[in-house]
Amino acid sequence: MDVHFNAHDRRNIDPPRSLGENEQAILEFLLSAPFPGQKELRQQLEIAKVTSQCRTCPTITFTVDESVAPRAPVARRIPIEAERPGAAPGHTTLHVLLHVVNGYLDELELYRNDLGQIASLPSPSSLELLFFGGGGS
Ligand SMILES: [Zn+2]
Repeated sequence: MDVHFNAHDRRNIDPPRSLGENEQAILEFLLSAPFPGQKELRQQLEIAKVTSQCRTCPTITFTVDESVAPRAPVARRIPIEAERPGAAPGHTTLHVLLHVVNGYLDELELYRNDLGQIASLPSPSSLELLFFGGGGS
């Protein structure tokens, strides 16, 4: 059961704001290695704006001007994910998911295995990339 989906307490940002430095860094990290749609998603990242932010964690949603950036041919909703491995037995793993809807950047979602609080975005250097772009479901 994907209990983390849509469990965020989203606050709309109007007008949409530019990405913060840490948000930009983690998205560039997620899009740093090749997978189907990566090139298009990088173009979208250049013009993406933040439309909502979770009140209790760093999860954000995006809007992209579809007339400016091309649609990304991703194989599934979450083409790329990163995780922070547990440092010790029982240590909580942090997940960073990139959601793509209709070929456009939709959400940067963070959750922990124990569904606990996430105070801030992790450093990209603490994360490992997981690919799902090869197809399947
Ligand atoms: Zn949240």
